[in-house]
Amino acid sequence: MTQMIGRALRGERVGGSAEANVVLFFDDWKRLVDWANPKDGDTIDKPKLSVKGYHPFEYISIRLVEELSKSIESGGDYQIVFSKICPTGWYKTEIVYADADNKHESMESFTEFVMAYEHTKSKFDSFILFIRSTNLLDEWSKEYLDEQWMQSQVQQWISERFERKTDNIGEKLDSDLIKVVRHIAQNQSVPIYHSFEERELYDLDKIAYKVIDFPPRLKHKYLDEEFSKPERLWKVFYRSLIRFETAVDAAVRNIISPPVITTISDEPILPVNSEDNRELNEEKKEEVKKRDGYACLCCGVNTKSKLQIDHIKPFSMGGKTSLENSQTLCVMCNRCKGKNEIDFRCNTTKLSIPKKLDLSFRIESQNAISQTLPRFDSPVEYLTFRTESQNAIRSLTRIVNLFYHCKAVYKVNWAVRPYGYNIYLYPGNNPEWLLKHKIELLKYIQDKLDPNAYNIEINTQDKS
Ligand SMILES: [Zn+2]
Repeated sequence: MTQMIGRALRGERVGGSAEANVVLFFDDWKRLVDWANPKDGDTIDKPKLSVKGYHPFEYISIRLVEELSKSIESGGDYQIVFSKICPTGWYKTEIVYADADNKHESMESFTEFVMAYEHTKSKFDSFILFIRSTNLLDEWSKEYLDEQWMQSQVQQWISERFERKTDNIGEKLDSDLIKVVRHIAQNQSVPIYHSFEERELYDLDKIAYKVIDFPPRLKHKYLDEEFSKPERLWKVFYRSLIRFETAVDAAVRNIISPPVITTISDEPILPVNSEDNRELNEEKKEEVKKRDGYACLCCGVNTKSKLQIDHIKPFSMGGKTSLENSQTLCVMCNRCKGKNEIDFRCNTTKLSIPKKLDLSFRIESQNAISQTLPRFDSPVEYLTFRTESQNAIRSLTRIVNLFYHCKAVYKVNWAVRPYGYNIYLYPGNNPEWLLKHKIELLKYIQDKLDPNAYNIEINTQDKS
């Protein structure tokens, strides 16, 4: 509704009509509703930039690996010139990219690094000077550029200013030059060079020793100042001051009480009887699936191809391959369950104290809800959105069930107001356990499942 009102008020300038019909609603709002500001219409012309919480992937060059292995295999006969394969520093580039898949509608800002080597550093520097002095920059500042168009330019620069044979380390010279030029064009400034000698500056232990005896306020002030120094890379590494402070605190803790290396589990390893079969036969498997209603007992997914038969008590821990010790799980839930003994036919947790909330699960990409806010221009869009929400609901159910080590989730509702999710637990599962992780869980939902989620509620079934 926020969206609809916002859109209605934006008017003709952004493709709407001159008149807006506003229906007055009376309702009992429990929370402040962040009504869309009509001025936000501007964002249609100039999309807001979102900074991704991760860096783009960088592949390690197979050539470097080959060079190293040749050197190792030759027993020293093959000499690598280290100055040619070990970078001396990097240029930091910041570029806004338009998303080609999304018809260039969404923009993302990325920070990427261009490695420089002893023999390429001066070439890069003179290339940067040259680019600054040319007139081609307007075209290059666009967020979306045609790859072929860029290549034709880059190839010319390389042949004029670089030696492809020695300078194309890791086969990245083309993309490196493109980054440099795009950075200069978009920012009207040259990318800053950070020499690896600066590494010392980013030694957390050194900072930890520095602040170890500071009182809290002074420590905060010191770290805030350090973090905010414009020439430092802390913001690139940690994104926010709080993360930086957390990292320093961890380093301090390690100095005060070094982590004790614990030995691997002292649980006895049970001998596996080779007579036992690891899997049920097809007939028995079918029987288990039928018993479990042809659905994953943990998350409820009922796509036949995704269903597997799991050992409730893992086979490796002496669990029997029997109907009684078997349950139907989907591939995802089975993988997440791992080596835990969890009976998802059971609705009450057997744990006496809560386990850590594990949010490290890999999310199937189709589960993530698209970054755009829900706006339902057609029933199809609405249905698509509902399907995506269903996937989010499934992932949430999985996380909570695994947290309680049983099928603790009675249901998860999609809540419209405030937009978010309501989690209902079967009685006998203490909601306080999960409530302790509410912020963490909501953050996870926003990052991984549904960026628009505003709230989660955790209740027991009888309150629903
Ligand atoms: Zn599942």
